[in-house]
Amino acid sequence: MSGAPVRSRHHDDRRSGGLRVTRVRNVERITPHMARITFADDELAALHSNGTDQHVALYFYEPGVDLPRPFTTEAARALLPVARPRLRRYTIRHHRPELGEVDMDFVLHGADQLASGWAERAVPGDEAIWFGPSPGWAPGPDTEWVVLLGDETALPAIGAILEQLPPGLPVSALIEVTDRAEEQQLTTRADARITWLHRGRRSAGHLLHERATTLSLPSGRGRIWGAAERDVVRGIRRHYVDGLGVARADTHLTPYWTRGETQDSEV
Ligand SMILES: Cc1cc2nc3c(=O)[nH]c(=O)nc-3n(C[C@H](O)[C@H](O)[C@H](O)COP(=O)(O)OP(=O)(O)OC[C@H]3O[C@@H](n4cnc5c(N)ncnc54)[C@H](O)[C@@H]3O)c2cc1C
Repeated sequence: MSGAPVRSRHHDDRRSGGLRVTRVRNVERITPHMARITFADDELAALHSNGTDQHVALYFYEPGVDLPRPFTTEAARALLPVARPRLRRYTIRHHRPELGEVDMDFVLHGADQLASGWAERAVPGDEAIWFGPSPGWAPGPDTEWVVLLGDETALPAIGAILEQLPPGLPVSALIEVTDRAEEQQLTTRADARITWLHRGRRSAGHLLHERATTLSLPSGRGRIWGAAERDVVRGIRRHYVDGLGVARADTHLTPYWTRGETQDSEV
């Protein structure tokens, strides 16, 4: 779709957010390995949404750390010499300002892992502290087509991006999940072809890489957004940028997790 601006709803006024002390309002298992957690706080009514793939950093302090109240950005900074939080990144799947609510979808990849385990055990009333949101991806107004690539960690972002792309824009989405039970209903006004890839017992991202590197790109100027395991993203970037000569600026490829490493080492 040429000439139509492609932008997140709040593209013109992107700001980074601040520290939020929220409560879990609801927990829903939307698929066998994906928990949707609704966070609530009166202040979330005023959260400045940056749209598309905006994410937050969840703060995890060691149990027993006594947090000063009110717990503000300044208070967290002052606490750093004594207690340093472990950070985990999660995408804002929905923001309902009228209800002061935000949804985030958590892949349940292991009850003994920090964020995944927390999400698996979360119940209404639990406190959750996070910082954000980050800026969101905003493909330029000259975008004629979009390719979206991701595993289940990218599914919240892909879902949010699809909801915000303009009517009629040609979009190809390749999404790798374990099996059919992990597929989600995604809504969009774009002219989207969504392909679900079922990895079964194959290692995460193998199939995504295989299909992404055999995808034929439309003519005209498009944008490629992708997120998955770090080495998978590297392989996809090599294919498009080094192999096909797609301008790096037209790609937005982000490692969302790293096999065998916690996110501690990345923050
Ligand atoms: C910008 C951004 C946005 C993100 N948005 C989301 C989101 O909305 N929803 C979401 O679920 N994730 C999202 N992620 C990915 C998430 O932050 C990572 O999966 C994170 O490592 C999970 O933290 P953890 O404490 O559960 O595991 P960690 O302590 O970080 O890792 C422990 C072990 O688990 C492995 N591991 C981590 N993630 C996975 C996985 N998905 N599958 C299999 N093994 C894994 C690691 O390799 C490591 O061996 C996002 C990441 C980024 C950078």
